Amino acid sequence: MSIRIGYGIDFHQLVEGRDLFIGGIKIPHEKGALGHSDADVLLHAICDALLGAACLGDIGVHFPDTSAEFKNIDSKILLRKTLELIKAEGYSIINIDSTLCLEAPKIKPYVAQMQQVIADILGITVKDISIKATTTETMGFVGRQEGLVAHAVCLLTAER
Ligand code: MG
Repeated sequence: MSIRIGYGIDFHQLVEGRDLFIGGIKIPHEKGALGHSDADVLLHAICDALLGAACLGDIGVHFPDTSAEFKNIDSKILLRKTLELIKAEGYSIINIDSTLCLEAPKIKPYVAQMQQVIADILGITVKDISIKATTTETMGFVGRQEGLVAHAVCLLTAER
């Protein structure tokens, strides 16, 4: 049996006039994340962690932001497609841990719903998808609420 670690990080700007999607759910806020897709920073970091563990490149390789196919796409679809890619290589997910870095809004009230959405897509339990959050104590672009960041790590296993 092999066990592989993966790591992903993603950034998006926060701007007015966009919806804010994090962890597959829409969160009420005066700003939203800017991007080619729905700009779900957490799902993108998780996709990159999963792809990284399987040594399959990154999200930009599989879902290029120059492609009309992925314009404003729901990132839950990208996560589903990512699962198909790693499954095709014989991998299954042991667990995922993640941290969001953002000043506002507070995401704690939404974490359980995010866990459920992600667990349902990936066929894991909510105990296998940890979502944490921190501010940067008002420092830097995150502190100025110009953007947000997500980090994710995962473990995959394969019968080989
Ligand atoms: Mg992204």
